[in-house]
Amino acid sequence: MDNSAHRKLVDLPQSDTMPFIFVGHGNPMNAILDNEFSREWARVGAALARPSAILCISAHWLTPGSTQVTAMDLPKTIHDFGGFPQDLFDMQYPAPGAPDYAQKTIELIRKAEVIEDYRWGIDHGTWSVLVKMFPDADIPVYQLSMDYSREPQYHYDLATELAELRNHGVLIIGSGNLVHNLGMLGSGGTSPDWALEFDELMKDHIDSGNHKGVIDFLKLGPVAKLAHPTHEHFLPLLYSLGLRTDRDELTYFNDSFDFGSISMRSVLAVPVS
Ligand code: ZN
Repeated sequence: MDNSAHRKLVDLPQSDTMPFIFVGHGNPMNAILDNEFSREWARVGAALARPSAILCISAHWLTPGSTQVTAMDLPKTIHDFGGFPQDLFDMQYPAPGAPDYAQKTIELIRKAEVIEDYRWGIDHGTWSVLVKMFPDADIPVYQLSMDYSREPQYHYDLATELAELRNHGVLIIGSGNLVHNLGMLGSGGTSPDWALEFDELMKDHIDSGNHKGVIDFLKLGPVAKLAHPTHEHFLPLLYSLGLRTDRDELTYFNDSFDFGSISMRSVLAVPVS
């Protein structure tokens, strides 16, 4: 019998089912600022059991036409932004990579032929949060890219195939923003109605378990286009929701806006027995 399609290539230790997180990363400066958002990241990280590895799906690694996973031993810190102070460019997050976990991830994903990557590393969607959440940088970190040529449903379906990693000590983090419109940033503390409406509606869908309502966000038309002129910052949320089971208890943190049009609303899912 040819069962090669189901062959176990990588044997990772089992663990209790790990939590998962969707984090709104927002302004890269949060990595070096001590503010309400970065303090919450530190609090959440300190409260979690130590993961064996961290898999991050970041809004900042898009590979249209393919899905890739970082598989190197020592991922570099990528400063994928411009116009920020030198202090931010000097930041390093020297966490080791997770080649075994990358192989396991390739094995688990059936929806795509996942390609091993040795050129990317840890982009700021990942490290700007992890420097606060896991400041010791001693937990192996790897990333999965998003095939931006695909529709939202595809990303959600692919995420369901990652769920098994939660039973091998992997903390899966989707890093984006629930509302993300850089063209309409405001300096004041108020958010436009469309931003509040979209944020609230998605929260309602998450609360009621209506994942279809989240996946089909583009059907909202103008309000979705305002919330996400491009939607790479929204897709990581689908990677988080795709992991969800009935046992997961969801709580929100950083549920407020930065610069008016960036929702920092983040989700922590912890399994309860
Ligand atoms: Zn971003």
